[in-house]
Amino acid sequence: MHTLVVKVTGDTLSFNNDLLKCASIIKNGGIGAFPTETVYGLGANALNESAVNKIFIAKGRPSDNPLIVHISNLNMLHDCVTHVDQNAKALIDAFWPGPLTIVFNKHCSIPNITSGGLSTIGIRFPSNNTALELITLCDCPIAAPSANISGKPSPTRLSHVEFDLMNKVDFIIDGEKSLYGLESTIIDCSKTVPTLLRPGSITVSMIEKVIEHIDIDPSLINLTCSKPLAPGMKYKHYSPIAKVILFTSSTSLLKEANNYIKRNVSIAIITENSLQYSSLNVLVLNINNGKNLYHNFRKCDFLKLNVILVEQPTNSPDNLAIINRLSKSADSII
Ligand code: AMP
Ligand code: MG
Repeated sequence: MHTLVVKVTGDTLSFNNDLLKCASIIKNGGIGAFPTETVYGLGANALNESAVNKIFIAKGRPSDNPLIVHISNLNMLHDCVTHVDQNAKALIDAFWPGPLTIVFNKHCSIPNITSGGLSTIGIRFPSNNTALELITLCDCPIAAPSANISGKPSPTRLSHVEFDLMNKVDFIIDGEKSLYGLESTIIDCSKTVPTLLRPGSITVSMIEKVIEHIDIDPSLINLTCSKPLAPGMKYKHYSPIAKVILFTSSTSLLKEANNYIKRNVSIAIITENSLQYSSLNVLVLNINNGKNLYHNFRKCDFLKLNVILVEQPTNSPDNLAIINRLSKSADSII
């Protein structure tokens, strides 16, 4: 398959011929990648079963892992869901457009393939201009998981999408680096008490300023025991080819780094405190609050490094998202 790569810039995106071409590909049942403020998405018409199926094939995604549906106005929301309760309304007012996915009971117009067979559907109203213009031009809700091969680190730059999906999708839109670089926060509002299913840049403390209380999926806190409530969270995720070892203390990381160096194993260190490893003659990369995490994972693979030693940031509620992604990508935790 030939992949069309287009660059769209400027304020008057809706008059951009390349963007119109991408929208017409989606309207005709094709699939393509586009930038969003979280990570790049791989989109199809959420209402078209055969188009959505192409996403699962291109990514190698398990069919029970539901897709998030992207909208560019609130009328589209009402076509996708049965009911919007008070909690969901408050979250929409506070955080849309932006990096928050809300799970609702799904309208019968959304095919089962899109929701991974669930009776609920995750909806997001992104804030990225290119994403919004594309959805508006398509004039339909867009199902879009992250634009990577399943299990690999999510793409936050054009080069990541090209590496994973070139010649497997109809188009890739060349946009800016993803602003947040981590996937959206997901809250399930289909239950009486809203539940956090996936932490993201919109934190629990930000959410609890808007609605009184949310439950937190126990698997997000007890990383080893319980089965995640969001189907996709049960899979190993976000993983580079290099072995990832997560350390909760810098002393044990330093000791292990020296062991690897002695055995001539090629390593990199990912940390928020680069300075304390500057005496080691190895690549030291900064997490930068999650923004660079996936880029750094991919950089280590590009350099064909064997092992990535990651120093876990402080275990605080605001670091829940980054710690969640690190523990999902790690081969072991020390
Ligand atoms: P991705 O788009 O690749 O970031 O993956 C989407 C994530 O959203 C997966 O972890 C899914 O399990 C989760 N998700 C999507 N829709 C639902 C839903 N209706 N209920 C629970 N989790 C969902
Ligand atoms: Mg994904």
